Order: sequence, then C-alpha cells, then structure tokens
Amino acid sequence: MSQAATTDQQGAWDALKARAAERLGPEMVFGEGPLDARFVSIGEAPGENEAIAKRPFVGRAGQLLNRILQDAGIDRRQVYVTNVVKVRPTADAGGGRLKNRPPRVGEIRDGLETLLPELALIAPTALILFGNTPAKALIGKGFAMGANRGEWFTTAANIPALATYHPAYILRLEGDDETRVRQLVTDDLARAQTALAAPPEARPLA
Ligand code: URA
Repeated sequence: MSQAATTDQQGAWDALKARAAERLGPEMVFGEGPLDARFVSIGEAPGENEAIAKRPFVGRAGQLLNRILQDAGIDRRQVYVTNVVKVRPTADAGGGRLKNRPPRVGEIRDGLETLLPELALIAPTALILFGNTPAKALIGKGFAMGANRGEWFTTAANIPALATYHPAYILRLEGDDETRVRQLVTDDLARAQTALAAPPEARPLA
C-alpha cells in the first residue's frame, strides 16, 4: 500500500519544478503523476502535442502507452510520467514549420540535472525506460535495446530500471512487426508490475 505524498515532498517537488521552469522557460514540460508512485515511466522528450498541452505523453505515443500499460495491468494514474529532456527538441521543417529531432548530448546532460533530483524525490520502486535515450542516460552508454531490453539494471539514479521499446517506435511499425513488438513491450511491463511485490534483482550493465 503506498503512502500519500507528504507536504514536505510536495513542497520539494514544487520547488524543483519552479527551478527547472526558471532555467528552461515556458516551453518546459515537467513530469506529472502521484509523488508516491511505485513506478516512474521515463521517455525521451516532449513532442508537439506535449509542448502544446504542457503535459508528458499526451499525443499518439502517449495514448498507446496508456493502452499498453492497461494491457499489462498497470493504471497510468498510478504512474509518475516524465522525460529525460523537458523541452521539445525541434528542427526547421521548412515553410515556417518545426519538426521533432533527437535530443543532443548536451540537452540530455542538462536534462539529467533535473531528472535525477526528480527521481530522488519520488523514490519509486522501479523505473520503466522507453527507448534508447533514457536507457543510455540512466543505465549506461553501452545499452543496446536488442540485447538488453526487459532486464533489470542498476542506474545512475540508484533505482532499478527496465528498458523497453518506445511506443513511438511501435507506431512506426506495421502488421506482424507491430503486433510482435507491442506484445514484447506489454510483457516487459507486466514483468515490471510483478517486480513491485519483490523488488527486482538489478545488475550493472557490463
Ligand atoms: N515521446 C516521449 O518520449 N515523451 C513524450 O512525452 C511524448 C512522446
């Protein structure tokens, strides 16, 4: 049974968010969810819909995330959801339009300055990392999705983490590939869910 967030914890989270907003400006999309969550789900960076709503994982990838969590027996409302990078990384798409681009090394390093205290404050039982960006940033640069997906690793946040494919990747697949990868991610999340009963044995990435 989780304990409600304390007033101290809420105050520390408010202060962390305010400091990040000062540093990152009005484009910032901060993490959200219960501060006493047992899971923290971590993505790469906000996309266009998230930048508009100022909330993480609300676009198509976020909706798929919600469905996969549900299929794995996890209620998103009990998960704290955040990103490594808190400002949408954009590139010029021509015609005055912007497109998403992968975050740069410096943006990821900066992102960790906010993410690590954010995780320390919530202190969940486990982290679920979506895609290579959070996996490499928290587990280690040598993380390889093909070989290391779905295993428990120790992290820079001192909280065990399991990394799996990003829902945005699933959205780019079709047919059997889409079905297969979606099932892998669902199984990974179901395994993460069982780890709440007995904290996972995590090892460092070799
Ligand atoms: N992809 C991410 O990694 N994070 C979001 O918040 C949305 C899409």
